[in-house]
Amino acid sequence: MAELLTGRTGEWEIVIGLEVHAQIVAKAKLFSGASTAFGAAPNEQVSLVDAGMPGMLPVLNAEAVRQAVRTGLALNARINLHSIFARKNFFYPDMPQGYQISQYELPIVGEGEIEIDLPDGETKTVGVERLHIEQDAGKSMHDQRPGKSHIDLNRSGVALMEIVSKPDMRSAEEAAAYVNKLRAILRYVGSCDGNMQEGSLRCDANVSVRRPGGELGTRCEIKNLNSIRFMRQAIDFEAARQVELIEDGGKVDQETRLYDADTGETRSMRSKEDAHDYRYFPDPDLLPLDVEQAYVDALKAGLPELPDAKKRRFIEELGLSPYDAGVLVAERETAAYFETVAEGRDAKQAANWVTSELMGQLNRAGIALADSPVRAEALGGLLDLIADRTISNNIAKDVLNDMFASGKDAAAIVEEKGLKQVSDTGALEAAVDKVMAENPDSVAEYRGGNQKLIGWFMGQIMKASGGKANPQMVNELLRKKLAG
Ligand code: ADP
Ligand code: MG
Repeated sequence: MAELLTGRTGEWEIVIGLEVHAQIVAKAKLFSGASTAFGAAPNEQVSLVDAGMPGMLPVLNAEAVRQAVRTGLALNARINLHSIFARKNFFYPDMPQGYQISQYELPIVGEGEIEIDLPDGETKTVGVERLHIEQDAGKSMHDQRPGKSHIDLNRSGVALMEIVSKPDMRSAEEAAAYVNKLRAILRYVGSCDGNMQEGSLRCDANVSVRRPGGELGTRCEIKNLNSIRFMRQAIDFEAARQVELIEDGGKVDQETRLYDADTGETRSMRSKEDAHDYRYFPDPDLLPLDVEQAYVDALKAGLPELPDAKKRRFIEELGLSPYDAGVLVAERETAAYFETVAEGRDAKQAANWVTSELMGQLNRAGIALADSPVRAEALGGLLDLIADRTISNNIAKDVLNDMFASGKDAAAIVEEKGLKQVSDTGALEAAVDKVMAENPDSVAEYRGGNQKLIGWFMGQIMKASGGKANPQMVNELLRKKLAG
């Protein structure tokens, strides 16, 4: 999927590396006991530590460490048993300490990898450089009162994982696939809720261009992209900007840029010349972080089945198509729903009903699976009625509509509406005889060799029975009687 850009002077390759900030799911902040719940009024969740009061001491939240290690394991990464918290010194009005506690030379998680799924069905492995733990800053609000800025420190000190990729992506499409897969893994692990709208997952995209296969070009970093759509637009705009700049005889300056969703452009925020002057040093308030191998092993043993493994199992053991398997594992909730429906039933049929019928209904109604009026057990009950031939596949679709609207279970609807399939041989035989008697020309045509007409006969009988005739039995009877 390495789509090349064609400039005036030839072809260019886009090179992308992503830095993803993921808010760790934990009740308390990284170094204080203040709450992290979303949606509180400004400055309601700020301890003295988060406010940067002099003399306050940070106390490491063990849950944040546990989630970071689990995430590292899910990325097939090396876990560093010894890691160090460092101070990264810079000024933000919404960062009262005057420094951010992060990890620099010795992060808790080293190199790993993510397998991304591309639209053509191909996969590609993207390297992960590192994952480290750090504090979030507060928020500045410039739109509350004219001429004034306000600061909300609720987010100050919240635990983040920064996950840094290698510069392995070659198109906006690949970058999107990377974020999608990373988000899915985080949500399976339960270490981050992945909510980009609420800012729990934010991306910085590093973009450069080069001649295909040539030396790496100078990169620009586009900060704080809070949706995958904006990230893709920002990457495409930025790559085109760099190509034009270089072809006009200029050179790319390494800088930090911002994406403006209104104009679809990136613009310079600050030059990166002095970016490395953060004066990192080990935080004297915190001991090195030492964890034991046994702790790591126990966390590894407790990891849930992850999307890639689940997808492979759905394909290899349940016989699903790669496409269906991909749709079903994209969200952990969807996979769980499907697995409940498929339990003890025909897996392919279950996959069909979940991906097309159920998801179709949900999409049309704009309802999330978690709020589906038809629970997995109820959909399973509907499939059982098809399997034991109480109703046909077509009737089942109508029953699902009803279940969706009324929340009733399938058996009750079938009973109430008298939808039970007619499998009584006598009644079916009579129906077949009737249609044949009424259409002697078609019977003759069939007997003359036009075997395709069986479908038309089927249609007539199904229609006459209001869809309730058992299609398999009708088919058998028709074949026998038409044969003469
Ligand atoms: P910094 O601290 O300046 O952001 P990092 O070493 O953390 O630097 O790298 C940031 C990101 O930049 C990584 O995701 C990396 O893959 C990416 N990157 C490095 N070089 C390039 C390049 N030439 N083009 C695109 N991305 C790059
Ligand atoms: Mg960076």
